[in-house]
Amino acid sequence: MKNLLDSHTHTLASGHAYNTITEMVQAASRKGLSLLAITEHAEMMPGSCNNIYFQNLKVLPHRMAGIEVLYGVEANIMNYAGELDVPERILSQLDVVIASLHLPCIKPGTREVNTQAVLRAIENPLVDIIGHPDDGRYPLDYEKIVSAAREHHVLLELNNHSLDPSCARENTWENVQIMLKLCREYGVSIIMDSDAHWCEDIADCRYSLPLLQELDFPMELVVNRSVELYKSYLHRFSARRRSDA
Ligand SMILES: [Zn+2]
Ligand SMILES: [Zn+2]
Repeated sequence: MKNLLDSHTHTLASGHAYNTITEMVQAASRKGLSLLAITEHAEMMPGSCNNIYFQNLKVLPHRMAGIEVLYGVEANIMNYAGELDVPERILSQLDVVIASLHLPCIKPGTREVNTQAVLRAIENPLVDIIGHPDDGRYPLDYEKIVSAAREHHVLLELNNHSLDPSCARENTWENVQIMLKLCREYGVSIIMDSDAHWCEDIADCRYSLPLLQELDFPMELVVNRSVELYKSYLHRFSARRRSDA
């Protein structure tokens, strides 16, 4: 399978990533991608940009260096009600909306309340992808998450960085395997993302792809093989998404 896209990357604007948008797009183009999504951390992540940054993304071109570029956000799930730190009027204008749990923004709770936080985010019609739902510091009920992702046409992310030994997230290999087995069973699509904070990490799937192969995961459930399929999960590009929800 040729990996055509990366839907989760950060630039200087996120405060702890190290390239400009131009450098990121050029690297993605060099690596042969058809599409790159830039998804900065939302404002409750210390050091990241604030809402006015996201509001003004409309000035940027959607084609650069021969590839398609989308602009979105990695919003923070702020509480167990699944509320995000970006207002709906801004989310609705963005090309891609990822929702993730991050330690500076939400304290880990019991499996029940962590799961509830993610389920409420999945039910949000403006959320397209759940970012790194693999961190053992936030135990989750994967049966419920995978089943809700199917019901609401939301992508679950297979985050390559989570599988890197340097990553602070815990028990990711075990959790990802539980999630992937359920995705296969329920026919739920996933997305491979790099979560690159450095341009050379774009489209890195050195851990995620071999794991999918080892598990014999059906490649038709991996949206990285088709830009059109990927976009069918984005609220900005798909009317079907709303009627499914
Ligand atoms: Zn994240
Ligand atoms: Zn990220």
